[in-house]
Amino acid sequence: MNAADDKTIVREYFNSTGFDRWKRIYGDGEVNKVQLDIRNGHQQTVDTVIGWLKDDGNLAELSICDAGCGVGSLSIPLATAGAKIYASDISEKMVEEGKQRALQTLGNAENPTFAVQDLESLSGSYHTVICLDVLIHYPQEKADEMISHLCSLAQSRIILSFAPKTCALALLKKIGSFFPGPSKTTRAYLHREADVIKILESNGFAIQRKAFTKTRFYFSRILEATRV
Ligand code: SAM
Repeated sequence: MNAADDKTIVREYFNSTGFDRWKRIYGDGEVNKVQLDIRNGHQQTVDTVIGWLKDDGNLAELSICDAGCGVGSLSIPLATAGAKIYASDISEKMVEEGKQRALQTLGNAENPTFAVQDLESLSGSYHTVICLDVLIHYPQEKADEMISHLCSLAQSRIILSFAPKTCALALLKKIGSFFPGPSKTTRAYLHREADVIKILESNGFAIQRKAFTKTRFYFSRILEATRV
């Protein structure tokens, strides 16, 4: 399958069955046990990133691009904390849901600014670019291009999360337990941490902070890199 096919499949998925599934996972209604586990894991990833940004003490001064923002799980709390947020996603359904949630939480439609846009076509310049749990939908060569493009938009910092390719995880994926049910997801790609770091470094960034979220069904390596 080529990368263009991957992108079309991902867009269609997140505008249809994927939207219904992930909207529920990224919500607070009733879900099954596996979805609850993924919800909790994802929330830990979001909380880790928010914790890092808050620790720095300058959140209210930052412009942040949240690429592949989903329903705004990260964008909305960051906007609440005062940062200027540009949130975008390839799926118009996810963006629409994000807008609704932002309106409910923040009571205005100005910040975050939401747009339907794939991250490859994003332009502009932001203090920090963040891309959480998006790379899982793309193979390594495509992910390299995407990371390089995101680096070009970041004045100072990039934060990425991805499912790490380790022997144990690769094996789990092979035996089908990593993602429960083939009809429920798009193809999942794991990425070697060393490959992601290499591409960040080749774009002039150095790793500052790392974290790893692991629950039963959710795994995510989080990397923060700053421009050297
Ligand atoms: N980053 C969000 C979060 O952590 O809450 C959402 C993560 S969700 C697993 C993946 C999201 O990436 C979906 O909303 C999907 O539509 C979006 N996505 C996938 N490929 C994309 C691309 N090429 N450009 C922009 N968004 C993309």
